Amino acid sequence: MRRLGIHSFVWTGGQTQDGLEMALRKSAEHGYRTIEFAYLRPEKFNLDQLAKLAQSLDVEIGVTMGLPLDKDISSEDDAIVTAGTAMLADAVRAVRDIGGNKLGGILYSAHTKYNRQPTKRGWDNSVAAIAKTADVAKQGGVDLVLEVVNRFETNLLNTAAQGLKFIADTGSSHVRLHLDTFHMNIEEANPAAAIRLAGDKIGYFHIGESNRGFLGDGVINFDLIFDALLDIGYKRDIVFESFSTR
Ligand code: MN
Repeated sequence: MRRLGIHSFVWTGGQTQDGLEMALRKSAEHGYRTIEFAYLRPEKFNLDQLAKLAQSLDVEIGVTMGLPLDKDISSEDDAIVTAGTAMLADAVRAVRDIGGNKLGGILYSAHTKYNRQPTKRGWDNSVAAIAKTADVAKQGGVDLVLEVVNRFETNLLNTAAQGLKFIADTGSSHVRLHLDTFHMNIEEANPAAAIRLAGDKIGYFHIGESNRGFLGDGVINFDLIFDALLDIGYKRDIVFESFSTR
């Protein structure tokens, strides 16, 4: 079922238990039915309490994250790939334990500005690790969605076409794409065409302005975006992402 949602960073920059509970309440108050959290380290938060609050407010939780460099599954270093694969499995379990429905973000590489092109071996390592993660996610009832982002945040998946090739390589039907208008505005020649190309492989959608500020303040043509989402019959969650609390 499609739900409209909002990123918790719109309400709170602080990653604290109180901050996240406040963000859940604010989201519900404003009519949002899903919220996005950044990766929650289980030892720092009372996941059970957040899960219960979310359930009582009828707000679903999704989690997004990016991998750190020392857990970059697109690395050629096997120890780093193994550490990254373990982190993804832990993240999937944390999403499951909080009663969340999806894990998204830059799961297939580090969230960083690379100063080199990806390698074939790195791509293959990432594909294999995501295929494994997809099995864990499927068992846990968690959707796995890979966010296609701009060149300053990864070197692996910058366009929907690259994302489609990647998920085809995993051989898993449980991996989908997480598209974001902010990133598409930078990388896609035609964002609406990219949405139509990705079609039913889109598992999650971020709405963000070209300047990541108030919707309508930037240059993104949202009429064309929503027309494309309607054309492909998109029925999954749409979340507004902004990192400004004012
Ligand atoms: Mn995004």
